[in-house]
Amino acid sequence: MEFLAPTTWADALAVRQEHPDALALTGGTDVMVEINFDMRRPPALLDLTGVRELSDWSRDGDVVRLGAGVTYTRVIEELGDVLPGLAMAARTVGSPQIRNRGTVGGNLGAASPAGDSHPPLLAGGAEVELASVEGTRTVPIEEFYTGVKQHAGRPDELISAILVRSPSGPQQFSKIGTRNAMVISVSAFGLALHPDEQRIGTGIGSAAPTPRRAVEAESFLSSALDDLGLWESRGALPDSLTREFGDRVKAAASPIDDVRGTAAYRLHSLAVMARRTLTWAWADYAGGIT
Ligand SMILES: Cc1cc2nc3c(=O)[nH]c(=O)nc-3n(C[C@H](O)[C@H](O)[C@H](O)COP(=O)(O)OP(=O)(O)OC[C@H]3O[C@@H](n4cnc5c(N)ncnc54)[C@H](O)[C@@H]3O)c2cc1C
Repeated sequence: MEFLAPTTWADALAVRQEHPDALALTGGTDVMVEINFDMRRPPALLDLTGVRELSDWSRDGDVVRLGAGVTYTRVIEELGDVLPGLAMAARTVGSPQIRNRGTVGGNLGAASPAGDSHPPLLAGGAEVELASVEGTRTVPIEEFYTGVKQHAGRPDELISAILVRSPSGPQQFSKIGTRNAMVISVSAFGLALHPDEQRIGTGIGSAAPTPRRAVEAESFLSSALDDLGLWESRGALPDSLTREFGDRVKAAASPIDDVRGTAAYRLHSLAVMARRTLTWAWADYAGGIT
């Protein structure tokens, strides 16, 4: 197996162009498992760990540009206030060792429906930056996932960064697993309140062929909050509203039975997580915490 190890971003893109069948590797926490278990035997590995540009993050106004090689540990330590939903999800990933190596870019590259970065990125309205020697383009996150473990990147492209607006309101993340650490989620849910646009953002994980938003639930809730004047008053949420929101989130999912859980349990747990995350986020909003 050929091992290609560029040390600059320009070289990485040139290598990608020349070797579109090379398997990119950032933290290797998915790739090395697949190779060790002989699930994958790529002709070449494109090791991106030496490309420093990928591990930078920066802020331009209210947009955070997160390099594809930023690890979960750094998201937790450096971006907890800036990208709170993503940081909450990052805290639930694997173990300290996995969080030290694993990256948000790698989670996107794997595009597993169970990846924990996806719900908060969907709820936050992120964009994925894809680059090749031809140039750079951005894809809205909900258009990025194209099938089970499939994404919109072309063979000559690499994921360079994720662009996310820092929030104007509270964010929450919840994940169901068989225990607290080192588990792939049975189901997961991300929620973002966007009071500046009087809009709700959602992200469903592990309960459909791809991560997805609960679009109808989002518009139901934002209209109801508008009708009741709650965006302005920050008053208590009626129970009927949180319940209805949970049911509409559930209706947006299309899970399967598998070794981690049944479709019925996934649907039930999604409705519960949607209700709970809304209650938590609204308590923050009512208390003036963004
Ligand atoms: C023990 C263990 C526990 C885990 N727990 C969790 C968990 O709780 N939640 C969770 O979501 N995941 C979990 N994972 C999976 C994994 O850690 C994550 O998916 C992680 O985000 C992968 O990041 P990475 O940098 O290691 O990716 P890599 O393994 O390097 O790559 C993953 C995929 O992305 C592609 N890729 C990488 N970088 C790029 C790029 N720049 N451009 C294009 N494609 C690219 C690779 O080719 C590969 O297909 C776990 C894994 C292990 C081994």
